[in-house]
Amino acid sequence: MSVAPSDAFHRKIDYLRLSITDRCNLRCLYCMPEEGVAKFEHAQILSYEEILRLARICISMGISKVRITGGEPLVRKEALKLCRAIAGIEGLESLTMTTNGVLLCDFAKELFQAGIRRVNISLDTLKPERFLQITRRDLFKRVWAGIMAAQQAGFSTVKINTVVMAGINDDEIEDLARLTFRSALHVRFIEYMPFKEDAYQARFFPAARILDRLRPLGRLEEVSAGEADGPAKHYSFKGALGKIGVIGAVSNHFCSRCNRLRLTADGKLKTCLFSADETDLRLLLRTGAKDSDITDAIVSAVQKKPERHHLGDPVFRKCIARPMFSIGG
Ligand code: SAM
Ligand code: SF4
Repeated sequence: MSVAPSDAFHRKIDYLRLSITDRCNLRCLYCMPEEGVAKFEHAQILSYEEILRLARICISMGISKVRITGGEPLVRKEALKLCRAIAGIEGLESLTMTTNGVLLCDFAKELFQAGIRRVNISLDTLKPERFLQITRRDLFKRVWAGIMAAQQAGFSTVKINTVVMAGINDDEIEDLARLTFRSALHVRFIEYMPFKEDAYQARFFPAARILDRLRPLGRLEEVSAGEADGPAKHYSFKGALGKIGVIGAVSNHFCSRCNRLRLTADGKLKTCLFSADETDLRLLLRTGAKDSDITDAIVSAVQKKPERHHLGDPVFRKCIARPMFSIGG
């Protein structure tokens, strides 16, 4: 098996986040405008054959972990077929998915059978009316049923991702954390990132304040994540079945440990979520490039991976070239 490539800062790059669509069945207020967005045209989006070819090349270079994301990955037709094909690539050690959970009650079992071993489900509130306010869709019950279905389907880890926003859902940090007391769910609190400019400063809720809210609930012990790829700090309450994660993506950037590459649904390779730099792999795929040419382009992009982002710097807010649904969070 190949050794994963290293970048100019000696980081081993062994994790690929694959966005398979920019479409979504929710309209989360921190990610998409209510009216939706101009979507990529069909021809702009990589076909499954193209995605598979790139996945094979990356895995042959030593990338051993792949996460399927979007937009909402489960809205793309035959997403399971793609998962099954990627799961079968020799050298892949871990295949996971990030989903909003809306379609999970239909697909959880088949996803597990297709080779996905861990799912992250985004859920920012336990209140159905608030879910409607945040996602602009009245689908809380479906997502909750999806979480239950995922727990029963056999996944080794079911994680809940919660974006914490001041004045919107920060009053639910404690209730969401309490879910870990009685179930093996892993609840991860994520700092709100500035993908949309409107009211960002007022809504930002830093990781340190999230931890302050958690401490009165019980003794929080720092624990191992049980997997290598997470940027979160992980904790567990004494006696709890599940774990807590806190991702200070803005205030405590974890760039020195970043092992990620991202491939957007339209075939652009990004080495940093917050950088405008992209390598156009679609162009290479569609102009007859050989696998070795594509490998060279990926190695060259890895070499230019930025040392860190500058999101925490007060002057540096308008750095994001694409919204999250288009990059693949
Ligand atoms: N649709 C799927 C979902 O929501 O899980 C996958 C794609 S979504 C872009 C991936 C993750 O990005 C979600 O957990 C979402 O909460 C997170 N996200 C989107 N916009 C964000 C923002 N402005 N700040 C922090 N996280 C964000
Ligand atoms: Fe859709 Fe995920 Fe963005 Fe919400 S965060 S709008 S579910 S892509």
